[in-house]
Amino acid sequence: MQEFAGSVDHVIPRDQAVFNFGPEMKPVLEVDPGTIVTFETHDCFSGQIQTESDMVTEIDFSKVNPATGPVAVRGAEPGDSLIVEILDIRPGPQGVATIIPGYGQLIDLVESPVTRVLPVRDGLVHFNDEIRFPARPMVGVVGVATGGEEITNAMPGQHGGNLDDHMHGVGTKIYFPVRQPGGMFGVGDMHASMGDGEICGTGVEIAGEVTLRFDLLKDKQGAWPVSETEDAWITHGTAVEYPDAMREACREAAYLLAGEWGLSLEEAFILLSIRADVGVAQACKPSPFATIARVVMPKLEAIPGPFGR
Ligand code: CA
Ligand code: CA
Repeated sequence: MQEFAGSVDHVIPRDQAVFNFGPEMKPVLEVDPGTIVTFETHDCFSGQIQTESDMVTEIDFSKVNPATGPVAVRGAEPGDSLIVEILDIRPGPQGVATIIPGYGQLIDLVESPVTRVLPVRDGLVHFNDEIRFPARPMVGVVGVATGGEEITNAMPGQHGGNLDDHMHGVGTKIYFPVRQPGGMFGVGDMHASMGDGEICGTGVEIAGEVTLRFDLLKDKQGAWPVSETEDAWITHGTAVEYPDAMREACREAAYLLAGEWGLSLEEAFILLSIRADVGVAQACKPSPFATIARVVMPKLEAIPGPFGR
């Protein structure tokens, strides 16, 4: 694996991991804003699936979806946003995808379980001898300590968690709502590639390294993590069913437009309708998983980014 081109202040090994985000988390590292940290991450199965004869039905589910961390950022207080800028994502040489009994839109049409091993070489995912395509590395589990609940990393929520948004790739900044001092950030569930919806329940699940820079925005936060790319900002909503998740993501975008740029909710409603793209990040149904909706609002000259930045 290539190393990160810049300088890194700290490296956290992948065995320093949590399987839940809750209100009381003990940091493995405490840093100042501006610090750059590399997180080594397990794949979502903690490496329990290595060959096409390793089935998802045979693994220990208490070891699924580890998030490396948590890291506390000095000065982060409830009401602030902890900003995580993804500087680099470096997937390892081999990922896996699985069909899981009872999971996903096509499950009634197929035999299950199935495991596919997917080599990742030279920036390409190799699906078989003929089909290959550029990797689109992203991190599925990204979160901070919660306001009160203990939430398994299998699930998303207002703290982040299993958000599974493919837009959480290199260059994206994520603004997490801080609910406990220090924030307590953890990351895992890297995918070399994942499509919107993640319809069979997995992306190219892969171990690797993620390099991030921490920053703080005082006294502003969304209800869910809000993300920023070079040309757009993104709100999220999570719920059991997709329509509820979509409504929450739309409300968050409208509240941002109304609160930060002084639009009325009616103006925000119309602007979102005529310019923003409402979509799905994750919706593997049937399954016990939640769904995650997103609103992608392109940056406009008068609306440059989330929180008026
Ligand atoms: Ca995931
Ligand atoms: Ca995953």
